[in-house]
Amino acid sequence: MSKQKRFFLSEEEIPTKWYNIQADMINKPMPPIHPKTKQPLKPEDLFPIFAQELSRQELDQTNQWIEIPEEVREMYKYYRSTPLVRAYGLEKALGTPAHIYFKNESVSPVGSHKLNSALAQAYYCKKEGVTNITTETGAGQWGAALSYAAKVFGLEAAVYQVKISYNQKPYRRSIMQTYGAQVTPSPSMSTRAGKDILTVNPNCQGSLGTAISEAIELAMNTPNCKYTLGSVLSHVTLHQTVIGLEAEKQMEMAGEYPDMVIACFGGGSNFGGIAFPFMRHNILDGKKTRFIAAEPASCPKLTKGVFQYDFGDEAGYTPLLPMFTLGHNFMPANIHAGGLRYHGAGVIVSQLMKDKLMEAVDVQQLESFKAGLLFSQAEGIIPAPESCHAIAATVNEALKCKETGEEKVILFNLSGHGLIDMTAYDQYLSGSLQNFEVSDEEIKKNVAQLEKVI
Ligand SMILES: *Cc1c(COP(=O)(O)O)cnc(C)c1O
Repeated sequence: MSKQKRFFLSEEEIPTKWYNIQADMINKPMPPIHPKTKQPLKPEDLFPIFAQELSRQELDQTNQWIEIPEEVREMYKYYRSTPLVRAYGLEKALGTPAHIYFKNESVSPVGSHKLNSALAQAYYCKKEGVTNITTETGAGQWGAALSYAAKVFGLEAAVYQVKISYNQKPYRRSIMQTYGAQVTPSPSMSTRAGKDILTVNPNCQGSLGTAISEAIELAMNTPNCKYTLGSVLSHVTLHQTVIGLEAEKQMEMAGEYPDMVIACFGGGSNFGGIAFPFMRHNILDGKKTRFIAAEPASCPKLTKGVFQYDFGDEAGYTPLLPMFTLGHNFMPANIHAGGLRYHGAGVIVSQLMKDKLMEAVDVQQLESFKAGLLFSQAEGIIPAPESCHAIAATVNEALKCKETGEEKVILFNLSGHGLIDMTAYDQYLSGSLQNFEVSDEEIKKNVAQLEKVI
């Protein structure tokens, strides 16, 4: 009898609600704080920047389930459910008794999980009469997703792309432009935030924090324009829970329940997306699943950062968020996993981390590509450099199982494919990639400057 490898849901089984873990958390996330008044933020404070419904979702600590609008569900049906795959090939390559599963979000039209939230955000903007949306993007995954979602709902999109990625990954820019978006490398001279940075450092290669500042500034200065964000914020992670809710049903079809759930970590949206639906059973039903976030050693906010109020962007336009952070002025090394080059973690994940409901590990760039190569050859899918971090963490856990002989069930999220990232693989294969680590000194120096913020 041949073994079943892939598990799909029928259209009727695709989730109709997102899961809001804030409602079930015993210690709720501390409130975001208005940078001027220093008062806890109300949804109305966010209305100038974000769609109103998204602002309400952001601060909702009471509704456990939030209805997915019909129009968004219809769009989800173009690529969902995404497959849950039993990684027999990887298990064999590792010689591990562990059962490894991955949720394959790389099958979305844009190649990553980002579309799950982009569609929702574009929909709410359209519904509220917005005509233009702005955003930032690192590697270009979020920009691509938002550009497509904007087109679907008839909105104009303007994207600030981190300069290093704009140059390293020219095809992502082409993808955004193909969907009809306007793309600007950041820092740029088109905003005050960009000008300020370029004046001090003309060769600045940019960061997500800087690009966010530029996009917010444009949104504030343009009528009928809202800002959207692809990670970090609680409403983004809320939309991504469609991943874990599907995986929960698919694992049931496979007749297993995960002992570990693993995802790579930039701001936390694909991690929270796959983890939170399972974590609710730890909180409510006494399950003992481990949740492991895999972050780059060059941007280690969860493993080496501090828990503190900080801005979400470089220029200090966002509310102050209680987060694990390296300091909003932190400039991460130019690793290829552009989506993981962000200084802070979302407020929900930060609280869960503080309460030890989850764990984090850091992964070196070379180790991540080594795992990506192994996975490519074992399963045939070339993973995004970001996703390679989740694979590396999975490999480590599976090898521990090999030592102990334990048949643990590991589920990881394959957040995207790497077919647009072949320059990175080229460099890895030719031996010209290197590791980057942040010294404790550097972190201390950045974090010391945060004191002035509160
Ligand atoms: C953006 C991105 C990430 C990191 O963002 P999170 O919000 O932490 O999920 C990870 N993988 C891929 C493929 C991405 O595009």
